Amino acid sequence: MSSIRHRSGAEGPSHDPYGFEEVEVRNARGRFTLHLGLAKWVEVRLTAMDLKPVRFECPRITEPEIEAIFEVGAGVSVATARRTEQRLRDSRYRAHRAHGGFECASGMPGESLTVCRCGAVVECDFDEGAVL
Ligand SMILES: [Zn+2]
Repeated sequence: MSSIRHRSGAEGPSHDPYGFEEVEVRNARGRFTLHLGLAKWVEVRLTAMDLKPVRFECPRITEPEIEAIFEVGAGVSVATARRTEQRLRDSRYRAHRAHGGFECASGMPGESLTVCRCGAVVECDFDEGAVL
């Protein structure tokens, strides 16, 4: 596994927001994104072939079913990906613990950032509802 990203936030209209979670794994084979929210889908972008990303999406697909599709490509279970990302996030906070504290800031529209006093972005949350 070369890189992993976890994103959570809200999507849908701002008067009726819906929580979503996204797990993205990049490895030698490509980039695999699992989205669990209003819709559930997996997007596959293969490195070897110059192909457009392919999205697997089905209205009635269950979470275990869509997670199984993700796992085939990503080569790692969703639970392991979440745990790994959590460990990486914890280590980012630990690495910046001695720098005087963290504060919240806004980035791009819909983005909430946790920024260390040294200027490093430690965490990023996204609210799609704020953009739509
Ligand atoms: Zn720092």
